[in-house]
Amino acid sequence: MHLNGTARVTPQGVLDIGGVSAPELAGRFGTPLYVYDEGLIREQCRRFHRTLAASGLDYQVSYASKAFTCLALVRLMAAEHMGLDVVSGGELYTALSAGFDPARIHLHGNNKTVAELRQALDAGVGCYVVDSLDEVARLNALAGEYGTWARCLLRVTPGVSAHTHDFIQTGAADSKFGLNLANGQAETALRAMLDAPHLDVLGVHFHIGSQIFGTDGTRAALDRILNWLAGLREQTGFTARVLNIGGGFGIRYTAADQSYPIEDALTEIAGALRAGTQTHGLPLPQLWLEPGRSVVGEAGWTLYEVGTVKEIPGVRNYVSVDGGMSDHIRTALYGANYEVALANRMNDAPQAEYTVAGKLCESGDVIARDKPLPHPQRGDLLAVSCTGAYHFSMSSRYNQMPRPAVVFVGGGEAREVVRRESWADLVRGQE
Ligand SMILES: *Cc1c(COP(=O)(O)O)cnc(C)c1O
Repeated sequence: MHLNGTARVTPQGVLDIGGVSAPELAGRFGTPLYVYDEGLIREQCRRFHRTLAASGLDYQVSYASKAFTCLALVRLMAAEHMGLDVVSGGELYTALSAGFDPARIHLHGNNKTVAELRQALDAGVGCYVVDSLDEVARLNALAGEYGTWARCLLRVTPGVSAHTHDFIQTGAADSKFGLNLANGQAETALRAMLDAPHLDVLGVHFHIGSQIFGTDGTRAALDRILNWLAGLREQTGFTARVLNIGGGFGIRYTAADQSYPIEDALTEIAGALRAGTQTHGLPLPQLWLEPGRSVVGEAGWTLYEVGTVKEIPGVRNYVSVDGGMSDHIRTALYGANYEVALANRMNDAPQAEYTVAGKLCESGDVIARDKPLPHPQRGDLLAVSCTGAYHFSMSSRYNQMPRPAVVFVGGGEAREVVRRESWADLVRGQE
């Protein structure tokens, strides 16, 4: 298992994160348990700031809440000078409950409800990412009612989509997000926004995918968008002050994943933005970003207790743990690959391959397939690395599983930032 951040293996063969041993964490807080290396989250934020500051561009980096949010995380983002993206009333409520500056919150979503827009206007949210033509009229009318201007970006689909190592020129208008450049809908929406008296149009936004390595796709999208903006500027005089390139920076889930440092990606993108604006005779806009996974993914761990071990001769070995797809859905959902280890026996040599299964009632309830492990024993502690993004936030109560606790570790201390759900929580509000 490759180790990130402060994680290390003690001479006794025990996994230690943030100066606290995994068995101690499991003993104090129970399992399944989400553990976050707080120092690594902070370091990831600082890498974005350092590189963008060095680029000389005006920039803003906002953390995409959907990857993982809770009060403590929101406060951490505030302390690290990050903005915050929210996509729902619930994410907005969480951000505001943590005391996050509303001016630094951006509201996303392809179907923002009127109630959510009112909640955002009440709070004084700093930016709306407009995602459809009918939202233009709705947001303008509501902002008028509040006697204010809604600062906004238009989300466009540039006809480029990226997935891990590749990007494809789709040209397709088939997306529930954003407005298409090629079919003219983006232009129609932008013109409507410019005409709307209660909208202050800052610029445009795009997000071409997630878990992306390299910048080919982003640079191709930038090129199309700058070309489009140059044409629009000639016709309408509109000059984008902001270009938001979304998130999507890839992380290393396993040692086999290539590493593409944030520093390299940002430097290439900043260079492409400078060159592209020059080519098209445009003033340099602010560069905005909204990373999620790359901020929290590698900092998160899940700890489970080993239960049933089932060896099917000639077929497969299964080791079952006390959680599963209720706290770890990505393997079942899209075959994501994770590294696993026995956290109390890190130096024991692997003896066989085991598929790590959960305890939930689905055959697809698998955490990791065919992984080399020492023969697991009931009571061992199984650690899964890189579970910081889209785990807690995608957790469910399937089989009435209470959601696990979340613990932040660092400097030899552990603090429980989200309490484990109780049985009583499972029936709260029911009659
Ligand atoms: C999901 C999403 C992000 C964050 O993506 P990551 O892959 O977690 O970095 C940013 N912006 C938008 C619009 C998104 O939908």
